[in-house]
Amino acid sequence: MDFVILMFGLLIGSFLNVCIYRIPRGESVVFPGSRCPYCRARLKPADLVPVVSFLLLKGRCRYCSRLISWRYPFVEVLTACLIWLFYRHYGITLTWAYYAFIGCILIVVSFIDLSHQEIPNGLVLVLMVVGLAAKLAGIGAGFIDGLYGLLVGGAPLALIAVISLLALRREGMGGGDIKLMAAVGWCLGWRLTAMALILSIYIGGVVSIMLLCLKIKCRKDYIPYGPFIALSTIISMIWGERILHWYISSFWG
Ligand SMILES: [Zn+2]
Repeated sequence: MDFVILMFGLLIGSFLNVCIYRIPRGESVVFPGSRCPYCRARLKPADLVPVVSFLLLKGRCRYCSRLISWRYPFVEVLTACLIWLFYRHYGITLTWAYYAFIGCILIVVSFIDLSHQEIPNGLVLVLMVVGLAAKLAGIGAGFIDGLYGLLVGGAPLALIAVISLLALRREGMGGGDIKLMAAVGWCLGWRLTAMALILSIYIGGVVSIMLLCLKIKCRKDYIPYGPFIALSTIISMIWGERILHWYISSFWG
């Protein structure tokens, strides 16, 4: 079964690559078929087998020989691993489907934020709608919990944004990050969201300091926050309940 799930994950990852490329360009993610981004040659099924095509073509377009971004096989493998991890934790259940779907949206958001410095509103809306559908179906966090989550996720980042605008006169937190974290809160409920938020601040802080120390980024550079939200939310969805249980039993047990 693990093999089937991993193959399924690679296919989904291949579709996520299409979303990452097309959504910021305002193109349909369904039609037309895939083309090379450089020479616009229409790709054949043999060029579209996840990971395998990339390796067989040695990372180059079959038609114009230009280098294909490492992002394509990376996103495919990442998506497969993620869907498999959720499967290991939740089995083939509706919770698995729900969390894996949220994880996929977060992968798309992260790579769009990395290359375009924006988080599309449409993707935040998809999270809100899926969160609502899950509540109606009785999966994951309930309505009230979701509303608390919306506040717990959105309010602290909105506060950071206001403070950095007033005190430092610079944009410390984008509107997209605030909306994304609020939507995550709506989907996951307040407990997992609080954990994801705290984790994202830690991970974001450590990685930003590393990037500054290694001189990969300078102080004025934009460091996208979306990928940190995505990573911490995924950690929280997979191990959150366990971490909370351990935390509560070791400090209040
Ligand atoms: Zn080409």
